[in-house]
Amino acid sequence: MKVRYFMLPLVIISLILLVLDREKTIENKTIFSEKQEINYPFFNNSKIDNYIINYLNEYINTDEKTLIDYDYLNEEDIYYLTFYKYIISGKKIKNNTDNLIINIKDSSINKTEETFYEYDIIQNKVVNTKSKMIALTFDDGPNYNTNKVLDVLEKYNIPATFFVLGSKIKGNEYILKRMVRSGNEIGNHTYSHLLLTKYDEDKIEEEIERTSNLVFDIIGKYPNLLRPSYGSINGKIKKVSNYPIIIWNIDTLDWKYHSSKKIAKRVINKVKDGNIVLMHDIYSATANSLNIIIPELQSKGYTFVTVSELFYYKNMTLENGKVYANAK
Ligand code: ZN
Repeated sequence: MKVRYFMLPLVIISLILLVLDREKTIENKTIFSEKQEINYPFFNNSKIDNYIINYLNEYINTDEKTLIDYDYLNEEDIYYLTFYKYIISGKKIKNNTDNLIINIKDSSINKTEETFYEYDIIQNKVVNTKSKMIALTFDDGPNYNTNKVLDVLEKYNIPATFFVLGSKIKGNEYILKRMVRSGNEIGNHTYSHLLLTKYDEDKIEEEIERTSNLVFDIIGKYPNLLRPSYGSINGKIKKVSNYPIIIWNIDTLDWKYHSSKKIAKRVINKVKDGNIVLMHDIYSATANSLNIIIPELQSKGYTFVTVSELFYYKNMTLENGKVYANAK
């Protein structure tokens, strides 16, 4: 009996923590097809969720290429949710933004404003080697949202490293050229994002080399770095890799959070000299988080560099088939 009385408060506290924790993160859902990629938040509240599905419905069955993504902030029960909609037609990308204010308590929704702009698909530095350094890395692109990431990097005039998927390059060649033009490094993230540990050496080699050849065809230079999809590594991958294998030591979990504030916090709270940060250039919240991360870390004395620059400035020689999570 004594043991039970002792346990009861602990059980209650655990339950309270569980409930509080559940309220903090909104579940992300994705509708994915050849023409569309739609990310949206699931509130587990039928009135709000129905409103969002109705709102998205006109984009779900359209013939145009569409990417819908979002970012949100919340103050207790009030959610400020922004939907970013990219609609591709010909050589234009229409970018439409809708802001919703959602009150979870009374299930009310206010759609506040709509802004609109278009992208056209056309198209030297000094480093203090004594300063603390950080390398931002972006996986799974390129896609239209990569332009937004590049906008912020160019605004602050800092480089990053993009581990590109070969299968996403067609139609986005101009993005690879833009990456190089603004001083970024392009790494290899395989062709089709398979869990490579399940495949034989021939298939692994094909997945890697196909992407390297595509990158070479566009920018005239082979990638110097490999990041296997999912960061999964085994002996076969190390043996086949003609590149150093770069993983990360800070995972932003941006694919899960879709909140620029949370993504920024995960970097700012953990960062140390020589760190490598994993992000994904395909998400709007990730692009927005850079507006928080970059000025904050610059004010703390960090210099942003590419992965190759990071190891160069830290006097470390990268070896093919070896795995690196940071530079120290
Ligand atoms: Zn990936």
